[in-house]
Amino acid sequence: MKLLEYSSKEVMKEFGINVQPGFLARNMEEVRQAIDKLNFPVVIKAQVPVGGRGKAGGIKLASNKEEALEKAEKILSMKIKGIPVKKVLVSEAIDIDREFYLGIVIDRRSGKAVVMASAEGGVDIEEVARTKPEAIHKLEVTPRWGLRPFEARELMFKIFDDKKTALKASGFLLKLYSCFAEKDAQLAEINPLALDKQGELWAVDAKILIDDNALPRHPELESLRDMDYADLKELEAKEADLSFVSLDGYIGCCVNGAGLAMATMDIIKKYGGEPANFLDIGGSSRPEKVRKAMEIILRDPKVRSIYFNIFGGITRCDDVAKGLIQAFKELNVKQPVIIRLTGTNEDIARKMLEESGLPLHPVKTMREGAIRAIEMAGEKPLI
Ligand code: GDP
Ligand code: MN
Repeated sequence: MKLLEYSSKEVMKEFGINVQPGFLARNMEEVRQAIDKLNFPVVIKAQVPVGGRGKAGGIKLASNKEEALEKAEKILSMKIKGIPVKKVLVSEAIDIDREFYLGIVIDRRSGKAVVMASAEGGVDIEEVARTKPEAIHKLEVTPRWGLRPFEARELMFKIFDDKKTALKASGFLLKLYSCFAEKDAQLAEINPLALDKQGELWAVDAKILIDDNALPRHPELESLRDMDYADLKELEAKEADLSFVSLDGYIGCCVNGAGLAMATMDIIKKYGGEPANFLDIGGSSRPEKVRKAMEIILRDPKVRSIYFNIFGGITRCDDVAKGLIQAFKELNVKQPVIIRLTGTNEDIARKMLEESGLPLHPVKTMREGAIRAIEMAGEKPLI
């Protein structure tokens, strides 16, 4: 789960990280209220789930009320990288002297957290990594010990030349590490970490990615979930106890079992098709679950054909058939539905589908199903 800047700062603040005072505003009335509580200059920041907002014009400083209102109005009506801005963070601006970078990520290869620090902050860090990799200092954290104070100091002395600031930054980094570790983050990033003219350090921009698999351990984070940009299909699936991941293709997939779901996507890809989603309706599938799955698939406008691939074990084929028939009655299914049912109560299911008179396209094998799904989506399968 990606936390937007304002939520990331909220979480970081709990760990004692220095964040400038600010308020989230969804409309001009709220912008006005925020401004009244802050000292000028203020900074208005678009809250969208993409980086590079500054360059795109989504971050503006304002030194008085009129200017702030005018800029907030402009930002609230703009799109950044195609994403409409729905809210802004209005904060007291920092008088920035220098900008640094601080980030902690999980390195998939070593399975450890890696701290990254650079004196080249504020800009796109991927760009720095490409053009000037030596400017990024890294430190691998031993999970057993966590980040130790001397390690934090050693790293901070590499990017700050002044001892007092380096020591202050070490404390800052240790807090960021606690935040990262305690919240089961995959990424916790501050860019820029700003040093102001008074020698104070601030998290001017913040980003946290929480490991979705750890979310059950963090019910407190649920309220920070951004509902403006969340994938609603994925959320709804989660509520219905279905595993669902949105993809870019055009074939909606409804499968039971994660392994079979992966195999189904593989076989679609093998014949040149593109799956629109991964969907595992799970083991014992009740008819309502199938109906819900269908509802979620149908909400995706990219879907041009739907492939049901069910291997009946614990899941009984007749239950799936019942769900499908119910779904067809209640939902407006315009796309062709290709269906492969095999296993427990297969015969009963087949008979039920036939008798329902619904325009379903039964197939015998997985391969045949994939090819039909591609054809019926109007594409040419690679055979
Ligand atoms: P991003 O462009 O999406 O990464 O958004 P940031 O929050 O990192 O802001 C981009 C840039 O705007 C920063 O690197 C700063 O140079 C500038 N900026 C943001 N907030 C402030 C602030 O409070 N004071 C000043 N002086 N500049 C700011
Ligand atoms: Mn930034």
